[in-house]
Amino acid sequence: MRESQCKLLNKYLATNAFLYKIGVVSSPDCSFCGKENESLKHIFIHCNYTVKFWAEVIKWLHSLNVNINNLDNKEIMLGIPNCEDELFVNHVLLIAKQYLYFCRCRKTFPICKVFMSRLRKIQNLELIIAKSKNKLSPYTAKWGNF
Ligand SMILES: [Zn+2]
Repeated sequence: MRESQCKLLNKYLATNAFLYKIGVVSSPDCSFCGKENESLKHIFIHCNYTVKFWAEVIKWLHSLNVNINNLDNKEIMLGIPNCEDELFVNHVLLIAKQYLYFCRCRKTFPICKVFMSRLRKIQNLELIIAKSKNKLSPYTAKWGNF
């Protein structure tokens, strides 16, 4: 991920490193591990808690027969174009990052089962919308494995 992309995201998602600079928090350290400066790159990719979370997500995707190899930094941040189950996989990546940031804000650790529960709620909401618009086919194509 390029530095300019990180700066753009930092304008919208505050981190302790940024909040420390402007005097809002007393430490720039990571909300999860408390060791490193908290940047979005650290929260989404490099933190030990995040690395463990992504490993569990990949393992879970494999259990759904969605073949994703190790996610690289670019794939985590920007998604995976033209992969198998592209819509589902990229939605999972997007919601996972949203969940990681939610955990950071709530000062809780990311847990794959909690994330999957959140994903299930989104799936159920999309089912209601698909039924109301009589568009179950695209819904099933996206969520079929889950
Ligand atoms: Zn950390």
